[in-house]
Amino acid sequence: MENCIFCKIIKGEIPSVKVYEDEDMLIIKDVNPQAKIHLLLLPKEHYADITEMSDAQAQTLARCLKKLSTMVDALGLNDGFRLVSNKGAHACQSVGHLHIHILGGNQLGDRMC
Ligand code: AMP
Repeated sequence: MENCIFCKIIKGEIPSVKVYEDEDMLIIKDVNPQAKIHLLLLPKEHYADITEMSDAQAQTLARCLKKLSTMVDALGLNDGFRLVSNKGAHACQSVGHLHIHILGGNQLGDRMC
């Protein structure tokens, strides 16, 4: 989608530190980390938040989360991690492209905004 910063990152128009990529998702480092490890899982298809998902997008997101669960060691998340997705300005969502925060590394961010 035009003017979506995460779509631009997915298309390679804006630089990012990519940790993992496949046909459905991109995982990047958050530019303003709130935990020792702060990653963002971005579904490649644009939709604003979890309430706007189609059934097909929900299935894709579930596949992405399942794949993430196989990458815990590789991502350095063995000590545990949190998954957070903010919906709406009052919940501190600042980018209107669904994203899952992955917070870990023995200093779990409890301040998300
Ligand atoms: P939220 O506030 O839940 O919408 O989260 C948006 C997140 O995107 C924040 O944690 C930002 O630090 C992060 N962010 C914004 N722009 C970029 C970028 N260009 N590269 C990586 N992370 C970004």
